[in-house]
Amino acid sequence: MADDLIVVCGAGGFIGGHLVANLIDQGFRRIRAVDVKQLHLWYQRFDEVENFGSLDLKELQACRKVVKDAHWVYNLAADMGGMGFIENNRALCMLSVLINTHLLQAGHEAGVKRFFYASSACVYNHDKQTDPNVSGLKEEDAYPAMPEDGYGWEKLFSERMCRHFTEDFGLVTRVARFHNVYGPLGTYDGGREKAPAAICRKVIEAQLSGGDEIEVWGSGEQTRSFMYIEDCIKGLQDIMLSEKITFPINLGSAEKVSINQLVDLVEDIAGIKLKRKYNLNAPKGVNGRNSENSLIQKMLGWEPSIPLRVGMTKTHAWIYDQMKSGISKESVVNL
Ligand code: NAD
Repeated sequence: MADDLIVVCGAGGFIGGHLVANLIDQGFRRIRAVDVKQLHLWYQRFDEVENFGSLDLKELQACRKVVKDAHWVYNLAADMGGMGFIENNRALCMLSVLINTHLLQAGHEAGVKRFFYASSACVYNHDKQTDPNVSGLKEEDAYPAMPEDGYGWEKLFSERMCRHFTEDFGLVTRVARFHNVYGPLGTYDGGREKAPAAICRKVIEAQLSGGDEIEVWGSGEQTRSFMYIEDCIKGLQDIMLSEKITFPINLGSAEKVSINQLVDLVEDIAGIKLKRKYNLNAPKGVNGRNSENSLIQKMLGWEPSIPLRVGMTKTHAWIYDQMKSGISKESVVNL
């Protein structure tokens, strides 16, 4: 196993970077890390692995190059971001379908043994998410299909592409539906950031400038759950390794909070209290979303459980250090 070639696509991004770090820690010796971003823009980069920067995986030829001799492929590459990005870039989000399609095609041709696809809670039917008091979304709630426009349709289609490559060609695929992942070494500004990082950034801006106000998107009553990156990395690898999980499965925390409660938490961590200005015209997504974890509990005897306060304390600390030291988001932050 340790000498098998593992390919991580999207390795210059948040989750892909943490996955490469974890694979190295576990003793894997042959890792190929791939991203469309130039190498100096990756959140984490490790000299002991084979790094392919500036490679656009929407191209079939690029996919053929990266899966050559690969044993396992993790596809974490997508053109994506938080609500502000996906609501305003639906076509761009849907074009990521080319990444997964061509990776599957190249992986099948190359005889890849196992393939992981990072899907999302955005596949779930919109009608099941109208109430902030939503009970958790079960895997079957994805159908009948009415996912998030653009990004969610791409994820649902790509899930099915994985299923049919398994049925028709025997390529072993694993699919996890991530629910909001957060943590250090990810995007916190520039327009692609998600709520936990955006709220940390806004609170820290007030901490550093002496400001007394925070803009909150929507009414703040919309609910979500947030999974700390360490739970995500453990869960996605356990799903990849599982012989039983042959269908898309939730990978998310079941600790549901409102956005107002998330702001309360970050204010508490920062030791500050701010006036809230609610922007009701900003993108806010569905009213309520949470992960229902019976299936992952049954399959793995485990579910993501790192408390939001623990993860947000680490995330706030990392973003604070970045902003305090004036490190640009374009810098490599972990070499
Ligand atoms: P990210 O944006 O930090 O990382 C994605 C990486 O993919 C980026 O580095 C980007 O440059 C790369 N990429 C984009 N287009 C590419 C292309 N054509 N060729 C090669 N690389 C390309 O995002 P992330 O948070 O690390 O997300 C990883 C995966 O997990 C994505 O598929 C995402 O949709 C999925 N996901 C993430 C979350 C979350 O909360 N972070 C939730 C649900 C699903």
